[in-house]
Amino acid sequence: MKKHNFYAGPSILPQYTIKNTADAILDFAGTGLSLLEISHRSKEFQAVMDEAQALVKELLDVPAGYEVVFVGGGASLQFCMVPFNLLNTKAAYLKTGVWAKKAQKEAAMFGEVVEVASSEDKTFCYIPKGFEAKVPTDVDYFHYTSNNTIYGTEIRKDPDVKVPLVADMSSDIFSRPIDVSKYSIIYGGAQKNLAPAGVTFAIVKQDALGKVNRPIPTMLDYRTHIDGGSMFNTPPCVSVYGALQTLKWLKAEGGVKEMERRAIVKSDKLYSEIDRNPFFKATVEDHEDRSRMNICFVMNDNYKELENDFMEFAKSQGMIGIKGHRSVGGFRASTYNALPEESVDALIAAMKEFEKKH
Ligand SMILES: *Cc1c(COP(=O)(O)O)cnc(C)c1O
Repeated sequence: MKKHNFYAGPSILPQYTIKNTADAILDFAGTGLSLLEISHRSKEFQAVMDEAQALVKELLDVPAGYEVVFVGGGASLQFCMVPFNLLNTKAAYLKTGVWAKKAQKEAAMFGEVVEVASSEDKTFCYIPKGFEAKVPTDVDYFHYTSNNTIYGTEIRKDPDVKVPLVADMSSDIFSRPIDVSKYSIIYGGAQKNLAPAGVTFAIVKQDALGKVNRPIPTMLDYRTHIDGGSMFNTPPCVSVYGALQTLKWLKAEGGVKEMERRAIVKSDKLYSEIDRNPFFKATVEDHEDRSRMNICFVMNDNYKELENDFMEFAKSQGMIGIKGHRSVGGFRASTYNALPEESVDALIAAMKEFEKKH
């Protein structure tokens, strides 16, 4: 039985990435050595790092004045690196989920935090309307989470605000074009839509750095990683290699415009079935707020007791990783770039079959 991988992260990667990384673990770039045992200072690995950074810039149309860095520590370390490097007096945060909340908590250690709006009152099942107008103009930056992985909400429009933007794009990077010029920093853990776990990406506007008065520990200073070409210390070589493979795949498949087209096709299909099928309902009601990457749904009110039955049935049909996050319950189908449309079709077929059987 074919397995359909709907895990939220680490999550499905292109076969191209998996195959090429496996090959390089056996013989890296014709060196006769494994990717696991080569020096990161070798010219062959330097080429991997350089190409990965260049491809991020190319695919996202990153303007001059920005650098791409690959570091460790996950998106969670970025929660503190961002304020360490950018927050002088005051920053604004939008609270749309636990990741957003964790980012906000770190910032509060460095200065005043203005909570622009929150959707915590309804388990983060919506994006607060009109948040852009509420962002103060005297803050150092405005931070938001573009895709709320746990709750299945997404802000796809680069916000219109008068202050520099910072975004956690862990789970929707490379799923659509973005206007990088509006941002000071875009960051994310790579394990959702890009690479095996272990590497974190950040796209950093160089002008935005060097404006805070506090000393910054060397490893937490973006300038260290920019100046060192993401090789100040040993990078996670395998994850960076995996990222490069996905970036090459993205380019060959048609780039972020094509990923956006596919994401629209896949998510529209699945939401339509959730809305049509009387056994299910989406947890995010407002269509505008619905994520194209993490699609959350529960059993409809009259069928709550069938949740385990559907889980078991879906498993028997090859669905993996559709259990919703414990704070939301129900189901979550993550439909990242690498997920083929046929996996969405298989899930829809299982939902229809379940409806017939009951
Ligand atoms: C997964 C996730 C994180 C946490 O990433 P780590 O790399 O595990 O620290 C942060 N933000 C978002 C939006 C996520 O989806």
